[in-house]
Amino acid sequence: MAYKLNDFEVLELIGSGSFGSCYKVRCKHTHELLVWKVIDYGCMPEEKKQLLVTEVTLLRDLRHPHIVRYFDRIVCKETKQLYILIEYCPGGDLATVIKSCIKSNTYVEERFVWRVFHQLISALQTCHSWISSTIILHRDIKPANVFLDDGGNVKLGDFGLACRLDADQPGCIETMVGTPFYMSPEVMKGEMYNSKSDVWSLGCLIYELCSLKPPFHAQNIKELASKVTKGRFERIPVHYSDSLQRVLNHLLLVNQEQRPSVFDFICDSVILSHLPSES
Ligand code: ADP
Ligand code: MG
Repeated sequence: MAYKLNDFEVLELIGSGSFGSCYKVRCKHTHELLVWKVIDYGCMPEEKKQLLVTEVTLLRDLRHPHIVRYFDRIVCKETKQLYILIEYCPGGDLATVIKSCIKSNTYVEERFVWRVFHQLISALQTCHSWISSTIILHRDIKPANVFLDDGGNVKLGDFGLACRLDADQPGCIETMVGTPFYMSPEVMKGEMYNSKSDVWSLGCLIYELCSLKPPFHAQNIKELASKVTKGRFERIPVHYSDSLQRVLNHLLLVNQEQRPSVFDFICDSVILSHLPSES
């Protein structure tokens, strides 16, 4: 079904991002809650418009329980606004979870960390094994781009910086994108962004979820690059298990040849033993 603007009732503004504002809306017919991202494309530079088209086209094709579902887009030519309709994630994002832990001086439960890890690995397996010999690199995995439903399950979203690669292509040439704290050693060195760079960012995200700070921190990019390429980081807080720390040691291996791919975790007994029975 093709949606029209007046099929929806706007409930509240959720937040503003780099592209525009996100609103919680309700479909007048099905009463379903959705999010629409409103984007003014009129005065947008061509490059930004291109990023937007990327997000829309990618999300339309991606269907996975742990990837934010894209429903439709509505173009309003009079106002030069684009409305992207996506699944509403009532639990907010992981950046907010981390912030509230810092504020209340608490940590997330290890069980939750394993669940996030497993679900994001599963989402990335779909991205990294895309159809028709094309794969998708997310390139901006960070807490603010991982959303939560009301059952504590996560969904990877915000594919605004993603890129498609032919399976025989070694990586993306244009590399300096994403969050500097989560930038992999190879990208820091000016090499291509590849699927292992997403694995590194996932490692940074899981680490931050435990430690409430990124594994590598610095005041400027030069100092950060030096820390990242050395690859030394503190252990996660002691109440987290050695097996979780070991997984992080693998995800954050400086040498991308040694760093696992998301497929290396399919039958990993350590992960399986930590999965909640209900998921
Ligand atoms: P940006 O990444 O450019 O900051 P986003 O569009 O990712 O912008 O997000 C803007 C705000 O809307 C953030 O506060 C984010 O948590 C929230 N948000 C984005 N998508 C959803 C969603 N599907 N469900 C709930 N909240 C969302
Ligand atoms: Mg975002």
